[in-house]
Amino acid sequence: MDEEAGTLPDIAPRTGGSATPGGRGRPDATAPERARAAVALAALTAEITACRACPRLVAWREAAAVNPPARFRGERYWARPVPGWGDAAARIVLVGLAPAAHGGNRTGRVFTGDRSGDFLFAALHRAGLASQPTSIRPGDGLELRGAYVTAAVRCAPPANAPTPEERDRCAPFLHRELALLVDARVIVALGAFGWVAALRAVEATSGRLARPLPHFGHAAEAAAGPFTLLGTFHPSQQNTFTGRLTVEMLDAVLQRARELAASRGSVE
Ligand code: SF4
Repeated sequence: MDEEAGTLPDIAPRTGGSATPGGRGRPDATAPERARAAVALAALTAEITACRACPRLVAWREAAAVNPPARFRGERYWARPVPGWGDAAARIVLVGLAPAAHGGNRTGRVFTGDRSGDFLFAALHRAGLASQPTSIRPGDGLELRGAYVTAAVRCAPPANAPTPEERDRCAPFLHRELALLVDARVIVALGAFGWVAALRAVEATSGRLARPLPHFGHAAEAAAGPFTLLGTFHPSQQNTFTGRLTVEMLDAVLQRARELAASRGSVE
């Protein structure tokens, strides 16, 4: 990570295995737990990228590669499921909907190579969580520190709309990923789909949450098991071009995420 991104001493994982004061939150991972989780996360990434369980989405992601728009003609598309990526010791996990047909599905990295990613990673850079403001392709030098970016569904869906069956089939990948991000304390949901997916992932990893479940909204904040869940409107062109989501709005949510991560995710 280059120096422009700043340092994040306040949200670095602690060592040791003590429980969160007051009984809430996740206990700190030990060094061996952290090492085992990193190995398992790499194995999960490999498993995700080989998945072909949803025939409709497999066909769609591969069709996008065969018929790209003119601006991407001649490019070699990834055309496979897109895993999460970032800092395995992240305190902050960002959960989007799914890769874009000509963004993550093209480059192989989520939120990379499209306008949504441009908006998101510029904000992560301003927040000190990304080494550079652009996300062009794997190998472009971008690194995340203290943050991990992932999605509820790993294959690009037609019209950005996975079916409920596709959503549910893919959900265990997020559940397992969240369990392996042993230092995570704050989840930032990028849109309502990510909000619900995050709540389901928390339930899968940490036990049933009290009802009613918290509602999504921009800047919404809720305790979710050992995590704090924050909501932001999705950084889609539809939202950013219309001003529904502004730079200032996303910056404020990420700043709050950093504050919460520094306080170990507690909202008490
Ligand atoms: S959406 Fe998920 S479950 Fe379906 S094929 Fe892609 S990776 Fe597999």
